[in-house]
Amino acid sequence: MYNEDELLALSGIQHIAFCERQWALIHIERQWADNLRTVEGQHLHNKVNNPFIFETRGNEVIARSVSIVSYRLGLYGIADIVEFEKTENKENAIKIPHKNGYYIPYPVEYKRGKEKIDDRDEVQLCAQAICLEEMFNIKINKAYIYYGETRHRTEVVLNDNLRDRVEELSQKMHDLFKKGITPKAEKKKGCKLCSLIDICMPNLNEKKLKVSEYIQRAID
Ligand code: SF4
Repeated sequence: MYNEDELLALSGIQHIAFCERQWALIHIERQWADNLRTVEGQHLHNKVNNPFIFETRGNEVIARSVSIVSYRLGLYGIADIVEFEKTENKENAIKIPHKNGYYIPYPVEYKRGKEKIDDRDEVQLCAQAICLEEMFNIKINKAYIYYGETRHRTEVVLNDNLRDRVEELSQKMHDLFKKGITPKAEKKKGCKLCSLIDICMPNLNEKKLKVSEYIQRAID
């Protein structure tokens, strides 16, 4: 278990799942730069994140901007939305003040774009669910991501593989943070979408020709 001083931002798990260097630049070196994607994402979150809205829709209670924490993962953050779904089964469920019955919470994360080919959105969502599990001492088997571009809501099953990946990434974040290490840039396809490309300068790390190789090439 981590203590309060050791907690890291949960949102960083999406960065480290995409690129370890990107995570270190943001969370160790405190560097940031916006591009169109980050500004649009922020705009979408501003529309969603109103902590003063707490609404009931049928059998659901919906809370926004919910503070969450897991001392086991050593992560804290804010869940965009947590939907509390009413259930007949009081096992693995919680009570909500001033509401009748029992409820199971499901995190819902809002993303500006569409489904990604990697798992960065799923690991962030799963980490949020693990926080809620720890806070309420329950087990959550699914969660949702809403994609703004496709206006599509995807159900994510929180299986063991995804949970293991969350554990592995949060451990990596704590290891790097403790050592204060920013990994070297490894240029990849995703770099052109990265808002930190001008700070990171991944081209500088590309293999340089030796002088002798350069001369030989010129002769050839
Ligand atoms: S530019 Fe590429 S290597 Fe650098 S932080 Fe972004 S994704 Fe990572």
